[in-house]
Amino acid sequence: MTSTRDGAGTLAGVQPSLRAWLEVSRPMLIGGVPVGDAPPLAVEDPSTGLRIAEVAIAGAEHVDRAVSSARAAFEADDWRWLAASDRGRLIRAAAAVVDRHSDELAQLDAIDAGIPIGLSRELIAAGVGSLEYAAGTAARISGDALAPSGLPGDRFGARVLREPLGVVAMILPWNSPAAMLLDKIGNVLATGNTAVVKPAEQTPLGALRVAELFAGAGLPPGVLNVVPGLGSVAGAALVEHPGVDAISFTGSTVTGKRIAAAAAANLTPVSLELGGKSPALVFPDADLDAAVETVAGNAFLLSGQFCTAPSRVFVHRQVFDEVLAGLCAVAGALVVGPPLDPSTTTGPLISGAQRERVLGLVGSGLLAGARAACGGDAVDGPGHYVAPTVLTGTTREMAVEREEVFGPVLSVTPFDGIDEAVRLANDTPYGLAAGVFTGGLATAERMTRDLQAGNVWINCYNAFDPALPFGGYKQSGRARESGTAAIDRYTQTKTVVTAT
Ligand code: ADP
Repeated sequence: MTSTRDGAGTLAGVQPSLRAWLEVSRPMLIGGVPVGDAPPLAVEDPSTGLRIAEVAIAGAEHVDRAVSSARAAFEADDWRWLAASDRGRLIRAAAAVVDRHSDELAQLDAIDAGIPIGLSRELIAAGVGSLEYAAGTAARISGDALAPSGLPGDRFGARVLREPLGVVAMILPWNSPAAMLLDKIGNVLATGNTAVVKPAEQTPLGALRVAELFAGAGLPPGVLNVVPGLGSVAGAALVEHPGVDAISFTGSTVTGKRIAAAAAANLTPVSLELGGKSPALVFPDADLDAAVETVAGNAFLLSGQFCTAPSRVFVHRQVFDEVLAGLCAVAGALVVGPPLDPSTTTGPLISGAQRERVLGLVGSGLLAGARAACGGDAVDGPGHYVAPTVLTGTTREMAVEREEVFGPVLSVTPFDGIDEAVRLANDTPYGLAAGVFTGGLATAERMTRDLQAGNVWINCYNAFDPALPFGGYKQSGRARESGTAAIDRYTQTKTVVTAT
């Protein structure tokens, strides 16, 4: 236990109960019990670079204990065998407790991941909405009763039952720590599974607090375990663990491939929500003001550290100058600053390393002939800030145009016709999302048909709903975890044929 923190300036802005929570070195949560017998990991506020908390960091032995606890909870009477309505009720109770603590969780994500407080509140509220939706999923799980065509109908009856998978390992990224867990955990639990969560090493706090709140709402011990740790240690131990029945990974494509390879050794099913290099296409018949606001608002959302960020903007040549000027005007009006300041629209990047990477990609593009219409450099200050940046003149040969930047950077490129727009948009190994801005039905339909992306937004962007499946084409992922896809993803079928 430590009584002072280097980041005391940051903590002065958070509510007293959260400040007190952060003063104590946070243990892992395994089987409903706090486990602190492990070395500490310092947690940094990315807006100052200073330490705000520390957590116990899991080794392989803690991961093993967490998987055993999750297994025991899965096999106990009080989770998967609960009446679906009772399981749904527990998830709804958890949603209500989280909702009551939503300000606290929003502050926690803000200081842990650098999310501007207004956005952080919206993300937590969306997470509560996902939980409430998932509470209903518990009662929506149904099987089939069939009269098999090849068996005599009067002598055989067949049923297809749906059963949970077992222990689900959830590996999470740093860009919206508590909010993303809230978004994803409901469907895992509603379908009767138990979970071991490994949050990102940069942002372990939100998952720990969410698990405490769930326990307070009556979730049985061991149903939700949290083991903060390094990807190469706790993460690797978790995905390689033979006691894990399914893996849900959200993060970079590089790590996703590594995890898929590790999972293959045990034939563990994996869902992967990976990176993107999403296009936004602006046609001349669009409501240009709305298109500009939407594209820029979403490209710079969370300082571009959002997997669906519209980072490649293709604009019809007729309206190119107007749209470019509009994007720069929005970028220039953004307020870059500390996350807890309510006027901040754009916070820091997660780490100094991430800032260096982003500036390196931008710099190499500029050296190769791209131009910064605005931004292009770091913002002074102790935190890891990069100015909102709009590039023109980028080419497919430049890494900044090819790779996921995960920073407040977009490129704008003109196109002349719809075929060229389709070709440019699809010319990427990623396929997470795409935005189309047009007033024409035919254009919208053509783009819907031809865009290779798991999510196509027309005259809107980042329009999420817990009822809708979300995920990527190509190297942006595999499988869907949300909405109508959740039951398929988190259950398996058992076919039962009965002779009568
Ligand atoms: P980034 O590169 O942006 O930090 P990653 O995709 O590497 O993001 O990380 C996302 C999550 O994956 C984090 O929780 C991280 O600890 C975890 N992770 C990283 N490497 C591995 C690995 N080899 N096995 C399991 N988890 C990993």
